[in-house]
Amino acid sequence: MLANVKVVLVGTSHPGNIGSAARAMKTMGFTQLVLVAPLCEIDEKSVALAAGAADVLENATIVDTLEEAVADCGLVIGTSARSRTLQWPMLDSREAGLKLIEEVPNYPVALVFGRERIGLTNDELQKCTYHVCVAANPEYSSLNLAMAVQILTYETRMAYLATNTYPEQENPYPKQAELEMFHTHLEQTLWDSGFINKAHPGVVMNRLRRLFTRARPETIELNILRGALVSIQRNFKK
Ligand code: SAH
Repeated sequence: MLANVKVVLVGTSHPGNIGSAARAMKTMGFTQLVLVAPLCEIDEKSVALAAGAADVLENATIVDTLEEAVADCGLVIGTSARSRTLQWPMLDSREAGLKLIEEVPNYPVALVFGRERIGLTNDELQKCTYHVCVAANPEYSSLNLAMAVQILTYETRMAYLATNTYPEQENPYPKQAELEMFHTHLEQTLWDSGFINKAHPGVVMNRLRRLFTRARPETIELNILRGALVSIQRNFKK
C-alpha cells in the first residue's frame, strides 16, 4: 500500500533536501519519490544525506509539472506552512495520514511539498484535493522541507499500522487527469455560452474549482456533469 503513496517535491533547490527527504521517506516505508521541475541536480550531497536511502533517489522520477506528477492520482494532498487566502478544504496532519491510507487501495495518492523559499503557488495548491498544515508554532511555522516530509510520512505510517483493512470504495473518486478534463470542458462551455467575463475569466473559474473540490464528485457524478456539458455544447452548435 505504501508503494502507492507518491511523495512529490515541487521546485526543490537544495540537493541536500532531496537526499534528506528520501531518507525520511524510506524510514517510514515509502519509496515513490517524484521531483517536479527541480532547480538542482541529485548530486553527492543528496546521496550523502540520503544515507541508506540512495535507492529512493535512484528510482525517483522527474517531471515538468505538478499536473503530470499527479495525473493518475485520485487524492492529492498539498502541504503549506500557512493557510492562505484560498480557503481550501483543510486537514491536520493526522487526518491527512488517515485519508491517504483509507483511499490508497483504490488508486495512487500523493503528498505534495513546495519550494524551500516560497512553498507551492496558488495555482499548484488549487490542483490539490485537500491542504494540510502541520500545526507548528504560529509565530514560526515554516519547517524544513525534509522535516515536513518526515512528519507527514510518519502520520501516514501510523494510520497504516493502525488499520490496513480498508475495503475498496464502491463509488470511487475520479483521477486528477479526469478532473482537469472536466474543468477544461466546463471553462470552454462557459466561454461558449458567453457567461465568463472576458476581462476576468480566472475569478469565476477559481471559484468553481473550489466548489467542485469541496464537493468532491464521485466518478459517476463527474460523468453526469460531463454528459450535461456535452449536450449543452451540442445545442450551441445547433
Ligand atoms: N514560505 C513557505 C515555506 C516553505 S517550506 C510557505 O509559506 O509555504 C518548504 C515546504 O515544506 C512547504 O512548501 C511545505 O511543503 C513544507 N512545510 C513547511 N512547513 C510546513 C508546515 N507547517 N505544514 C505543512 N507543510 C510544511
